[in-house]
Amino acid sequence: MITDFEKLDAENINNEIIEKAAGILQKGGLVAFPTETVYGLGANGLNAEACRKIYEAKGRPSDNPLILHIGNISQLNSIVSEVPEKAQKVIDAFWPGPVTIVFKKKEIVPDSVSGGLKTVAVRFPSNKISRLIINAAGVPVAAPSANTSGKPSPTKAEHVFHDMNGKIDMIVDGGKCDVGLESTIIDVTGDIPALLRPGAVTKEMLERVIGEISVDPAVYKMLSKDQKPKAPGMKYKHYSPDAEVALVSGDEKNVIDKINTLCDSDSQNGFKTGVLCRTRNADKYRADVVLKAGDDIQTVGARLFDILREFDELKTDKVYSEVFEESGEGMAVMNRLKKAAGHKFIEA
Ligand code: AMP
Ligand code: MG
Repeated sequence: MITDFEKLDAENINNEIIEKAAGILQKGGLVAFPTETVYGLGANGLNAEACRKIYEAKGRPSDNPLILHIGNISQLNSIVSEVPEKAQKVIDAFWPGPVTIVFKKKEIVPDSVSGGLKTVAVRFPSNKISRLIINAAGVPVAAPSANTSGKPSPTKAEHVFHDMNGKIDMIVDGGKCDVGLESTIIDVTGDIPALLRPGAVTKEMLERVIGEISVDPAVYKMLSKDQKPKAPGMKYKHYSPDAEVALVSGDEKNVIDKINTLCDSDSQNGFKTGVLCRTRNADKYRADVVLKAGDDIQTVGARLFDILREFDELKTDKVYSEVFEESGEGMAVMNRLKKAAGHKFIEA
């Protein structure tokens, strides 16, 4: 398959490209497009066969359900059977935006979208290009991250091209994603709302709006074989570059010394080493590749996946990462980093 690659400027929209993308979605094809979180791989979310193609292109396990993206709030009632009061509060406070809400689904939502569950995850993105495409298609659009399953999510069109060229009909390049981390997922179908995946809409922000929420254990630790996360996708290895990643924790000075010692010994053993660190610490490291993640947590979040991919491009064998405080957006950053590292920690 030849993948059509089109650049689109959000400030100067070319409607022909929007119509082309919408036409492909209506005919059951696959289109990757930007959202404020990461690039999504879109298909008509009410067409089971189109959604099946998503799983094939990504190599995604079939029990990992998809998020349906809507382009306007009136589409919500066509796919969910009820909107609980707390869900409405989250909608009022954060939609359109980077938070996904799990609802009880209507029959019309195919099992291939919900992974056989009775619920469906829905998001109303704020990114202008994504909304124009979804509204032009006129259907809810299933759009998981547009990466090969297991690899870091794409935050630039080049990442999508790398993973999906030849496998999908079209890539719409709308530049870098602002947030750079996948959406927060909150399940409001039970008595106490549950945070299933942390993101840029933080636990603290949600609690201010709906009160106490529980955090699914899969968010912060590795589950044992018989434990099941509430978001089925959270059980899979994820975000992993080819390099072996370890997180080094402790006092800042000790962390720097420890990482340098590890890098020296890895180099002697013929490995190419990499470090992911705060920008202000970058010149203190002796690794072959030192990638600056920024100093504030939003910047770290926005750059994280691009950095993980760059370690692969540069053929790094061993990567050591500083750790970040797990409050606010730091919870999402650390969730992705722990998964990238297979939960491997080294104490400095
Ligand atoms: P992705 O779109 O690739 O970022 O992945 C979507 C995430 O949403 C996965 O972790 C899924 O397991 C989760 N998800 C989708 N639908 C549901 C649902 N009905 N209930 C709980 N989690 C869901
Ligand atoms: Mg994904």
